[in-house]
Amino acid sequence: MLRKTRLFTPGPTPLLPAAQNAIAAADMHHRTAEFREIFTRTLSDLKTFIGTKNDVLILASSGSGAMEAAVSNLTSPGEKVVVLTAGKFGERWRDLAKAFNCQIELIEVPYGQTFDLGTIKSKLDGARVLYMQATETSTGARHDVKAIAALLKGTDALFVVDAITGLGTTHFEVDDWGIDILIGGSQKAVMIPPGLAYLSVSERAWQRMETAKQPRYYFDLRKERKSQTKGESAFTPATALIAGLAASLDYIRRAGNGNLADGRDALIHNAETSAAMVRAGAQALGLKLFAPTCPAAAVTAILAPAGVDSSAMVKEFRERFAMVVANGQGEMKGKLFRIAHLGYYDYLDAIGVIGALEHVLLKVAPSHKFELGAGVRAVQEVFAGQFAEAASV
Ligand SMILES: *Cc1c(COP(=O)(O)O)cnc(C)c1O
Repeated sequence: MLRKTRLFTPGPTPLLPAAQNAIAAADMHHRTAEFREIFTRTLSDLKTFIGTKNDVLILASSGSGAMEAAVSNLTSPGEKVVVLTAGKFGERWRDLAKAFNCQIELIEVPYGQTFDLGTIKSKLDGARVLYMQATETSTGARHDVKAIAALLKGTDALFVVDAITGLGTTHFEVDDWGIDILIGGSQKAVMIPPGLAYLSVSERAWQRMETAKQPRYYFDLRKERKSQTKGESAFTPATALIAGLAASLDYIRRAGNGNLADGRDALIHNAETSAAMVRAGAQALGLKLFAPTCPAAAVTAILAPAGVDSSAMVKEFRERFAMVVANGQGEMKGKLFRIAHLGYYDYLDAIGVIGALEHVLLKVAPSHKFELGAGVRAVQEVFAGQFAEAASV
């Protein structure tokens, strides 16, 4: 049979057709009224999407560029920062803080788990910034941003959240909770290609930048703010991706019947429902989730059956069905595989990926016992449950 390529990776994610068209059509110079209009509108829409009154900036980089900016703009060498890590992306905060010679208070838990609030509380003394992920994409775990925000209330520590896979999959009250910098990336829930990072910046964070002494140039947020307030950027912006982001935010607004915040909530609900379907499907096939106590709506990490290399499963998905699922990262390579559901996924995608998973298991894990169709049926039951709920309103 024909095989259509399908991405189930937690970035890049499948592209929204309307955004692809906007990207292809974006033939403009960036110091023009045409671009300033689209850029200003997109920044304003992003504020609504993130759910904040704080300034929002867009950078021409992958998400890690904004992570670097959140270290270089907020700290001085030798300052104490708290870094929470439970996977590959937490380790990126650690490595960044190290590169900028911060004094790191590392709170590390095993892959697949989340943090103990008491431990965090006991390490905050003298901390200038706390860095964490909203969802740890390498393990499929969701962290409790709201509870950690509450621990930080009344302290001097700024709160920086990598929500690169958290945005569009998780609810945040950025201003109420006091998130000083919240970071997103283009290749995740907003359904466009890699190349943009965006972030919200609080008044407290702007104040800290006045005294922070790290060297910075390309990612100097104060310089960007000056330009972006005027609808421009300090350097050449990624014009085509910004046109794509504008189209994507319009699509999300339509999903909310003309209200962008409602559309964002619909996108989050879509991710939550897709995640519930994938978890139910995998478990009905006798597979174990890697982060069962704190599962993220962005991505589900599933352990390969005992004695089976998940790399062989990933390969079979690709060769047999042209489905791209993600392997484990770092120490989890070969042990688990990850199925994304952030952004442009629907019910039939869940049916497709779990249906394919059944065939992959038959081939790669012949001694793993399950009933053909059990996974697909579990996905259908979650869908039917949602439908009944909607009908009873
Ligand atoms: C994708 C991702 C990033 C950013 O990685 P880039 O390759 O720089 O885009 C950072 N944190 C998390 C949690 C991610 O999922």
